[in-house]
Amino acid sequence: MDLLIATRNPGKQREYRELLRNVAANLLFPEELHLNIDVQEDGKTYAENARKKAEQHEAASGLLTVADDSGLEVDALGGAPGLRSARYAEGSDADRLEALLQDLRGVPWEERTARFRCVLVVAAQAGRPVQFEGVCEGMIARESKGKGGFGYDPVFYLPGRGCTMAELAREEKNRISHRARAVESARATLERLLHTA
Ligand code: IMP
Repeated sequence: MDLLIATRNPGKQREYRELLRNVAANLLFPEELHLNIDVQEDGKTYAENARKKAEQHEAASGLLTVADDSGLEVDALGGAPGLRSARYAEGSDADRLEALLQDLRGVPWEERTARFRCVLVVAAQAGRPVQFEGVCEGMIARESKGKGGFGYDPVFYLPGRGCTMAELAREEKNRISHRARAVESARATLERLLHTA
């Protein structure tokens, strides 16, 4: 049974491969189906954006589809970058991360609380799309550290672990991340849909 993961982000793709390795499904990504859908991420919530991505890819492929919309919410910035995490600054992930550190210059440690949030939507041919959410709490470090993961991982400090998300082993990130938690809550539904499709 095929399962389409509607993301072209290589960091997300790597994580889904590992997070779903125990699910009896053949994981496919848009490139493998030559799908190049430019989903307008103009929703007002993560859920709206995730749903658009999942529904448009499901409609184009006819396959059971998973999509997520995710972001980093920094309390000292009123929840920014949030929905705009991928577009917070021009350039690369490294440029966005640098912009974030600049915007938080002088903010005391105890006010640097933040969280990653992931809203995952499963879209099937029959029935309404189903939504799941995962959150991972942390702090924004004063400097970037570590080479693992992607996006803002090098500045996302985990007080319980004493390191950033990018310093964790891959399996470790995949146990505690927002995406891992969203996948865990979606697992039973996904397995049911894979069996009934
Ligand atoms: P999306 O593709 O619209 O969901 O954009 C998500 C953006 O949020 C990414 O480009 C990253 O900047 C950030 N992000 C989401 N998940 C993670 C993660 O696991 N680690 C680091 N950054 C993430």
